[in-house]
Amino acid sequence: MRPMNFKMPLYPARVRVFFSLEDFYHKYPEEAYKDATGFKAFVCEKDGVVCMVFINYSDTNLAHESVHAAWAILEWTGVKVSYDNDEPLAYCVDYIFGKVQTHRQKELAKCD
Ligand SMILES: [Zn+2]
Repeated sequence: MRPMNFKMPLYPARVRVFFSLEDFYHKYPEEAYKDATGFKAFVCEKDGVVCMVFINYSDTNLAHESVHAAWAILEWTGVKVSYDNDEPLAYCVDYIFGKVQTHRQKELAKCD
């Protein structure tokens, strides 16, 4: 599946999503030496962009990594999140999860 990237609304952040380690390494060859053994997915920051890398995609992984990506975005943009102020986190998770799901559904539909 082709990588995707999108800008977050409300927050000055960009997210890049890779559906294989090979695509991530192709974009960022300097990362290729890192050992991702045992990881199903991870989130990292590259050149000011939040990268979500799925090695073994599942919807539960997407939910999990969407939370990590949302925290990263809020941390980098200086938004303080707490139990009493959790709407920004919920908003970001919702947006990221939805964007990736929609992309995947469109890509998968092409294969039918
Ligand atoms: Zn995690």
